[in-house]
This record gives sequence, structure tokens and C-alpha cells, in this order.
Amino acid sequence: MKIHFLGTRGNVEPSAPYHSKHSGILIEEKVLFDVGEKEFLDHNPEAVCITHLHPDHAFFVKNHKEDLPDVPVYAPENNNGIIRLSATREISGLTVTPVPTFHSKHVQSQAYIIEKGKKKILYTGDMIWIKKTHHHKLKHLDLVITDGSYFRKGGMIRRDKQGNIYGHQGIPQLVNLFRKFTPHIIFTHFGSWFYKDIQESRKKLNSFDMKISAAYDGMQTEV
Ligand SMILES: [Zn+2]
Ligand SMILES: [Zn+2]
Repeated sequence: MKIHFLGTRGNVEPSAPYHSKHSGILIEEKVLFDVGEKEFLDHNPEAVCITHLHPDHAFFVKNHKEDLPDVPVYAPENNNGIIRLSATREISGLTVTPVPTFHSKHVQSQAYIIEKGKKKILYTGDMIWIKKTHHHKLKHLDLVITDGSYFRKGGMIRRDKQGNIYGHQGIPQLVNLFRKFTPHIIFTHFGSWFYKDIQESRKKLNSFDMKISAAYDGMQTEV
């Protein structure tokens, strides 16, 4: 399965050339997961799957819906012609399964399990956690691509009066969550911690006792 990282910048101002575009990955050059920049549509995807309707993952939230191409656009919730994806679906030769995630107070969010042949990966947008009841779906992942917003332990998690949590988990906890399911994690969607000294930040990611990589805009890989 071919994975093409189009954008790896989180919800921060651009400050580094290889991390200047918001989130988006193209699988098999056919299906786009998150569309943080309008220019990603120049790849002519056959379908688009969005993790959540925040503008750094869905550029059109701030702009106009007419900007969207005439292809199926899936998301965790219905919104102006966007299709809610709540069960496994075949999309352009990929088997795509949504997995609900905790992230925002105002929008729904989900990760996607993407399968082709014997290969199976997970792509998440911003997230705090995935409920235990969904963990059985995460078995035997060849790769996890997830949220690099916060390196510090505990990330940035807020709690409202009803006890709902929202925000981002820290990288150490995400490593602990996903290491049970995969031998390889690629972080993307980098927050400000990453840009202070990119070389040093890459070293920090390499310091875990498992295979961890940092994505960059334009990076292509295969599982
Ligand atoms: Zn984001
Ligand atoms: Zn978000």
C-alpha cells in the first residue's frame, strides 16, 4: 500500500519548509485522508475521508463548500452533502473502517483503518484516546499514522463540566496505546514543540524503544 504525505503541519503557523502544509495523506494515489489544503485536490482523488471537521483537516470548513470536488466525501458526521461514514466501506479498492476517537467538544472525530490485500494501517487525526471497546479492531496493524501535536506527557487535555475530555494526547501515551497493535508509528500533524529544533525533535522521536518516524510534506512510503 502506497502512502503519500501531502501535509504534516498541525494547527500552528508555518515555520519550516518541509512541514508547511496542513494534514493530508494520499493512499494508493487514489483516496485522500484529510484535506487540510485545497491544493491536495489537484491529485484528483477518487474519494476523500476526513477525520474531523476542523479547518486544518478540512480546509473548506472556513471557506465554501463549492470548493469540494464532485467525488464522495466522508466524515464522522453529515454536513452539507458530506456523507457520514459509520461502518466499513469499500472505497476505490480500499477497505475503510471508521474508529471513533476522543478529540473535540464541538465536532465528531474518527480514525480510519485502511486495508488492502494483507496490509492494514490506521490513520488518525487529532486525538486523545480510542475507547477500549474498539481496540480489538486495531490488531495486526502494519503501521499507525497519528497526532504529533504535543510531545509532553499528558498532551493538552481539557475537561468540561460534564466530564467530557477534549484536546490532544501526548506522544508518550500515544506510543503506549499503539505499540500493542503495531511495530511502526509515524507521527504527523506537528505542533510547536517540533519546530523549535527539528533535528532534536526527530532524535526525541527516535529515542523510544520501537520504530518511530516523523513524516514530512511530500514523504512517500509503502507498507
Ligand atoms: Zn488538527
Ligand atoms: Zn482538531
